[in-house]
Amino acid sequence: MRVLITGGAGFIGSHLSDAYLERGDEVFIIDDLSTGSIDNVAHLKGHARFHYTIDSVHNQPVVAELIDQCDVVFHLAAAVGVKLIVESPVRTIETNVRGTEVVLKQANKKKKKVLVASTSEVYGLSNDVPFREDGNLVMGATTKGRWSYACSKAIDEFLALAYWREKKLPTIVVRLFNTVGPRQTGQYGMVIPTFVRQALAGRPITVYGDGSQTRCFGYVKDIVGALVKLMDSEEAVGQVFNIGSNEEVSITELAERVKELTGSKSEIVRVPYDEAYEEGFEDMPRRVPDISKIGAIVGFKPTMALDGILQSVIEYYSGRQSDGRD
Ligand code: UDP
Repeated sequence: MRVLITGGAGFIGSHLSDAYLERGDEVFIIDDLSTGSIDNVAHLKGHARFHYTIDSVHNQPVVAELIDQCDVVFHLAAAVGVKLIVESPVRTIETNVRGTEVVLKQANKKKKKVLVASTSEVYGLSNDVPFREDGNLVMGATTKGRWSYACSKAIDEFLALAYWREKKLPTIVVRLFNTVGPRQTGQYGMVIPTFVRQALAGRPITVYGDGSQTRCFGYVKDIVGALVKLMDSEEAVGQVFNIGSNEEVSITELAERVKELTGSKSEIVRVPYDEAYEEGFEDMPRRVPDISKIGAIVGFKPTMALDGILQSVIEYYSGRQSDGRD
């Protein structure tokens, strides 16, 4: 199979490239290296079945040509990370909405199957935990920058589902919950790489808010396995799936686990949300997926528990710090 991955030099895209190459398939990626990094795919550059294009998904002719050459498309290119979103809302909205428009429009010309990556952010302020795919999405006010990300991704979902209903373009929507593992950078605010780097450097571990908010962290290789299975499934077409782990942990507990597993002497400090992000920032107190739907359709079950995930990230960052790459 020939697989196109937009955002293929990103954290998840690069692991997805690995998975398809290991399976014997041919991989094409397009990435503008805005939040992705060529380092993530450096090990694949000499591979005979790996091809990369450094460009934006807004470049229609380039996207059209790549889609022509491929059998299926994973659309992962997006502005990600709460910090980036709060700091650059224009870029977030434009990247997420326009990029998806281009990919779906071009894929529709050749009726190539597209999997669009959305996010658990779309559940917004819903407290109907665990979140089910058919549950209500509860957006905050438009004056709070964070929700522009959720809204831009919700539009992507509507568009992908509309292409299926109206034009019979086979599309699948996935809502990725917090995903972690090697190659994820802390640069855009993601909590686990941030805590691990702080702990390894002996700097304070910064817990935002009161630390009682919870998340579930999925291991990137588990998540990628689910993406591959969904793409192979006929039944998944026209549907929305949560993908992630359902092992819930509070951010304070997470800071303590990281401190313990790294043997760090770092102090755990609390930083008010206003200082960490922007005034009036709203966080979601609990975020837990219901993963029964994807479990039923493709047999997805997370295999890696939190401690194993943390170990893999600690190993990754210990290596980078000792070889001077960080
Ligand atoms: N967080 C934190 N300290 C940090 C970075 C993040 O306490 O240095 C918190 C953040 O406020 C949120 C949780 O960790 O409650 C997860 O944040 P992340 O940005 O990784 O993902 P989100 O679930 O917010 O998309």
